Amino acid sequence: ALAVSLRGVTKAYDNGVMALGPFDLAVRKGEFISLLGPSGCGKSTALRLIAGLSAASSGTVRMSRHEGPAQKIGHGIGFVFQEPTLMPWTSVRENVRLPLKLGGVPKAEGRARADAALASVGLADFADAFPRELSGGMKMRVSLARALVTDPDILLMDEPFAALDEITRFRLNNDLLALWRSLGKTVIFVTHSVFESVYLSQRVVVMTARPGRIQADIRIETLEPRG
Ligand code: ADP
Ligand code: ADP
Repeated sequence: ALAVSLRGVTKAYDNGVMALGPFDLAVRKGEFISLLGPSGCGKSTALRLIAGLSAASSGTVRMSRHEGPAQKIGHGIGFVFQEPTLMPWTSVRENVRLPLKLGGVPKAEGRARADAALASVGLADFADAFPRELSGGMKMRVSLARALVTDPDILLMDEPFAALDEITRFRLNNDLLALWRSLGKTVIFVTHSVFESVYLSQRVVVMTARPGRIQADIRIETLEPRG
């Protein structure tokens, strides 16, 4: 089954910049794919179209409809940006609970789910901490927990680890892989690191310079079973 499908999608911004396409992409449920390409080629634009944060100029963007509770909080999508954008005045737990709070989930349930999401990213002991007390890598983990707390079907990640030092980044890569294996979510990961794309994903989609089109769509053969 498909999680996402884009057909003949183009995007021109109001200022006339042709950012994307025509672009065709089908992502299967549970797949971990990377979008790899130079700065400005339209990677973020593609993610925003998939997330429904911006409308395509032409073509169609389809998401598999979520099965189960009618309107899932966040429409079944979790988004992680390079900037964690945490609210500084409140605790890590409340930051992670925010999407549930906005979705009307009762406070006690929201807190329990936030704590579970924090545990899944290795931050069980930091729920009561404030963002300023955390390192860059930990803030990114909080951001990941906030994206996962609604139990999205699809996780969209826009160069999430690009600002982190190499060791922190590598640890996050490994933990993200472990999470993906255990949670079975569809992940679309934007990066301009060839290493990261090959290390993390089952499939690397290489984009051309702007307007981004697909130049290559490569299956990554793994040396070890991925679980
Ligand atoms: P990438 O994520 O690959 O770096 P983007 O999708 O952010 O690329 O941007 C693709 C192109 O569209 C760039 O030239 C960028 O400057 C332009 N662009 C992005 N967002 C907007 C916007 N809101 N208005 C006008 N141009 C934009
Ligand atoms: P906050 O984090 O600012 O307290 P909440 O969404 O948790 O925001 O709660 C909004 C309001 O509803 C608050 O005044 C809170 O005290 C109240 N509230 C939250 N959960 C419950 C509940 N289960 N029963 C009664 N009142 C609640």
